[in-house]
Amino acid sequence: VTIRKLNTGNGTLDLPAFLPDATRGAVRTLGTGDLDDVGVQGVVVNAFHLGERPGISVISRLGGIHRFMGFRGPVASDSGGFQIYSLRAADPKFGTVSPKGFRTHRTGGGDGRKLLTPEKAIRRQLALGADMLVCLDHCTGPGAGKEELRDAVEHTVAWAAAGKRAFEEECERTGRRPLLFAVVQGGGDPDLRRECAGRLGEIGFDGYGFGGWPVDGEGRLVETVGVVAESFPPGTPLWGMGVGRPEGIVEACGRGYMLFDCVWPTRGARRGRLLVRGGRDVPVKSREDYRIIQIRDERHVRSEEPLDEFCSGPCCREHSRAYLHHLFRVGESLGPRLGTMHNLRFYVELMKSLRDGA
Ligand SMILES: [Zn+2]
Repeated sequence: VTIRKLNTGNGTLDLPAFLPDATRGAVRTLGTGDLDDVGVQGVVVNAFHLGERPGISVISRLGGIHRFMGFRGPVASDSGGFQIYSLRAADPKFGTVSPKGFRTHRTGGGDGRKLLTPEKAIRRQLALGADMLVCLDHCTGPGAGKEELRDAVEHTVAWAAAGKRAFEEECERTGRRPLLFAVVQGGGDPDLRRECAGRLGEIGFDGYGFGGWPVDGEGRLVETVGVVAESFPPGTPLWGMGVGRPEGIVEACGRGYMLFDCVWPTRGARRGRLLVRGGRDVPVKSREDYRIIQIRDERHVRSEEPLDEFCSGPCCREHSRAYLHHLFRVGESLGPRLGTMHNLRFYVELMKSLRDGA
């Protein structure tokens, strides 16, 4: 049993779907017209970052995230569990985690100490007007010990339960009901992962995300990605959060994941790392089926060929490698924009081939 579509308040996602990250309300370098041209179905914004700037109330008063961004498709919002983890990893003084939630000791917005509770995380995402919400979770790093993983699971389950209660209350009050996802934690411990998935499943959500690190040091999917998928009934919407390399998406899709987001293709594009099929018009199934080229390399300076002759996107219909190389070399902002459009078009075509069962 596979799930082919996900209905949201702002359109239907054809599954599997890759949703690029628009962390601060934009897929970097792209306008919403570019997203439409490329065929991007939906995006993921981050309620934690948008809460710092411009503030959730600003976006809410301006009519919500869709109107604010000028984007009509499905918008998912992340609560910021992962950002909290990464900001704390970079600076342990950034904040502390307790059963109540997450307390920041300082914030970019400068309003001092703040407590992000699981209820607040949900209310903020509802105020944004996102179509798919994510409960606050306690994310751990690759080196987390058993005790820390246990705490993370306990917090994540308790916060998901509290988040769901707040969600139901608000939906009742407003009559609007987006989709609510919970995130499975438990690090590399299969038993903890199963337990976390089971307890979240009992509370009941519209879908579930794989939280934490989905890949190992060599870029391969970790075993627990499969463990989590097997913990839910077939057909449950599963989100492979942070699964972003094409071969990882293909593999996770085979295990039942249907939603993906990752900064990898867009961040790489801005640095000139562009994905091309190796001169063959075949669906990408593994790492052997595509190459990563560095468009800044000298060898592209006189190249008349398109980036990828099989790309049907606006990037490759109009422009040569030589032109892209030039744009990147002289620092024109059009370079990263065309590169981002190209890499996302590569993903649009990858997801289409997975949908077609190629
Ligand atoms: Zn292209």
